[in-house]
Parts: sequence; C-alpha cells; structure tokens
Amino acid sequence: MPSPIDLHTHSSVSDGTETPAQLMRAAVTAGLDVIAITDHDSTAGWTEAIAAASGTGLTVIPGMELSTFFGWKSVHLLAYLFDPLDAGLVAETSRIRDARLKRAENIVQRIAADYDLTWMDVLAQTSVGATVGRPHIADALVARGHVPNRSAAFESILHPRQGYFEPHYAPDPLTAVKLVVAAGGVPVLAHPGTRGRGDVMPEEKLRTLVDAGLFALEVDHRENTPSGKERLRELAAKFGLAQTGSSDYHGEGKPNRLGENTTAPEVLERIVARATGSAPYRG
Ligand code: AMP
Ligand code: FE
Ligand code: FE
Ligand code: ZN
Repeated sequence: MPSPIDLHTHSSVSDGTETPAQLMRAAVTAGLDVIAITDHDSTAGWTEAIAAASGTGLTVIPGMELSTFFGWKSVHLLAYLFDPLDAGLVAETSRIRDARLKRAENIVQRIAADYDLTWMDVLAQTSVGATVGRPHIADALVARGHVPNRSAAFESILHPRQGYFEPHYAPDPLTAVKLVVAAGGVPVLAHPGTRGRGDVMPEEKLRTLVDAGLFALEVDHRENTPSGKERLRELAAKFGLAQTGSSDYHGEGKPNRLGENTTAPEVLERIVARATGSAPYRG
C-alpha cells in the first residue's frame, strides 16, 4: 500500500501501552508514512513523538482525542494541528483530566469493596501525568489476576451494568468543536458509528457541529459497524464532510494494529491546508 496514513493512535500519555517514542518506532516498523498521535485529552506526548520521528522519514501530525458527552453518550472528537498552548483548550483539557482522575478513584473505591484492588495498583499502571481512564483500572485488575486482559475487564467488571462505573465531566461535542476551531485545529468525529446506523448522532445535532467547523467523520474504524459506516457515508455526502480511516492503535491495550485502516492523501492535504494552529513534522 503506498503512503499509509494513520490518523488515530494512543501512547502511554493516555491509555496506549507504548511511550510516544516507542509508538513512533512501531509506526516506522509498520511501514507508515504519516502518523497522528491522538492521546485522550492531552498533548503531552507531542514533543517526545517529534523527537523520536526525527531522521526516520515518518511525518507526525500532532493531535488529540477530546472526550465529550452528548447527553449521557460518550462522543470522541479527534483534533489535528491546533495550537497546543491555546488557553481555552488547555483549560478545558485540564478540567477533563482532573475530572477523570477523581472519577477513576471513585470507580476503584467501589470495585475495592468486592475485589482486592487499591488506588496504588492503578497508579502503578499509569505513567506520571497521563490521562487516567478505565484502561488503567483494567490493567490493575489484570495485574491482580481478576481478569485475563483489558478487553475481559471491559466486558465484565468495568461494564456500566456491573454498577461500579460512573461517567466524568466532559463538554458537549459542539463546545469541543468550537474550542478546536478557535485553537486553529481541524475537528473530526471519532468512530461515530459503533452501535449501528440507528444510533449515529441525529442529523440536527450533526448539523450544528458542521456549522461550527467539523471537517470529517472517521468512517473506516474497526468499531464502526457495517450499517454504521453506511449511515456515516450518507451523512458525509449530505453535509459535505470528508471521510477518514484509522487504527485507533493502543499498543498491546487493544487488538487494533497500526495502519489497519488509513486516510486518503487528499484528505490529509485538506486537513493540513485548513489548520492554522501547528504544522506537520516531517521527520
Ligand atoms: P474511559 O474513557 O475511561 O471510560 O475508557 C474508555 C476507553 O477505554 C476508550 O477510549 C478505549 O480506548 C478504551 N477501551 C474501551 N473498550 C476497550 C476494550 N474492550 N479493550 C481495551 N480498551 C478499551
Ligand atoms: Fe483509548
Ligand atoms: Fe475513542
Ligand atoms: Zn482513540
């Protein structure tokens, strides 16, 4: 495949299992031409990723995956090439990370009533300053031998129906799109079709995001269902949105492999042309 472009990956700055430098090396090994580092609610991996890409020929697109909530539904917003020092975005991501930390402590406290698990176990699975999420609690449950792997933890103890779960503060998707655009970035809705065509965001809501500057839908993602993808392609055509594809690689934390879905070079060119907050790093 010529010039594979993967625009959605995670490092240990959030819930990936590889450091940003290891992630860049994995990208070179996987034969990627372009990789976006998109940790949850954090840009803390950008510098290390760029340094590691230097001299490898790999192009790095600095990015982030912002947590948002549309009512009670978690909606993820990918953001590319924004200004990492933008005050509005820095304040909001810091608020989300703080809320995630408190929420993770609450979840652990509830689990600890039934299972041998401490907050220290979770911290031991988390790198300093990382955006803490259920994946880190999953890793602690694996380390304690309660479950065999992350996916098993998500399907059992961490599943909302088990009663240990709680959500965390996050902005509405429209607020998030506006923040990204104000920071000179390009917003793309992440994996919006994971629960089938009937569950994709309502058209009226999507229209508000488009009017605020939403650029694309991440259509080619392993968790979008076939009918979800079909609906997303219809919506992209209707609203004039571009389509991206990506792996959502988390190292060993998920089965997703680098480059398993990719984005067309023309779409990346349009993202780069639109962005004013930062630039791709050609290593
Ligand atoms: P949280 O945002 O803390 O509620 O955790 C959700 C995150 O966990 C998502 O961003 C995914 O990256 C990750 N995740 C969800 N399901 C799984 C799974 N089955 N296995 C591994 N990671 C998962
Ligand atoms: Fe994740
Ligand atoms: Fe996501
Ligand atoms: Zn992701």
